[in-house]
Amino acid sequence: MDKKMLVDSHAHTCDEKFDADRNAVLNRAFTSGVKYIIEVGCEPETWDNVFELSQKENIFSMFGIHPQDSSKFSDDNFNKLKTLLSDKKCVAVGEIGLDYHYDLSPRNVQKEVFIKQMNLAVEIEKPVCIHCRSAYDDMLKILKDFKKLPKGVIHCFSGNLEEANAVLDMGFLIGIDGPCTYPKSDKLREIIASVDIAKLLIETDCPYLAPQLYRGQRNEPSYVVEIAKKIAEIKNIPLNDVCNMTSANTIKLFNLWE
Ligand SMILES: [Zn+2]
Repeated sequence: MDKKMLVDSHAHTCDEKFDADRNAVLNRAFTSGVKYIIEVGCEPETWDNVFELSQKENIFSMFGIHPQDSSKFSDDNFNKLKTLLSDKKCVAVGEIGLDYHYDLSPRNVQKEVFIKQMNLAVEIEKPVCIHCRSAYDDMLKILKDFKKLPKGVIHCFSGNLEEANAVLDMGFLIGIDGPCTYPKSDKLREIIASVDIAKLLIETDCPYLAPQLYRGQRNEPSYVVEIAKKIAEIKNIPLNDVCNMTSANTIKLFNLWE
């Protein structure tokens, strides 16, 4: 296959950093080989904007309460979340999880809200997108307690190889972002080298985590190719194959349609 297909499986283009040129950014992605974008609505304040954007062609959504926003959990929010998750363009519950790096919500609240949303994903049979930062021990403990786990991805994977193998054994995929291009990320590159490409998704997490080539600048969906290039280099596979295989993984996990 000489035509490459890319999917940005995790973007925040509703962020205010795109307010001035959002349409140009999206067009740049779609004209540079990005077929689909999955837009993440993980703060109750931005859910409506994400919903509206996701009604555009080739854009899908996921909705959830980010661990940093766990304190904002309420019955009203949870009911609204359930409604958003029933939209046909919504393909996952996310991003949900634990963040002990910033600790913006108390850890016990983060755990409780994460578990509630995991249960919801099982109930509605949608995959999850899990955010985990400096909290792999607790996340693995929580996941091991589930009798039935949803499908899903550990987005922006930042654990070690043992933790990677633990989540892979549970059936999860691993999301790879800009940090794989950073000079100091040798451990992440070792994980990429050892994990089967069938288990990898690529994502920008824009506007954050711009790849090395654009480091310090705003990240955007068209830069997702930089992640594919790095994986191609690490695994010594043609770039087009990496683009097409990781796109197929994303399409399959989230049930994206033409
Ligand atoms: Zn994100």
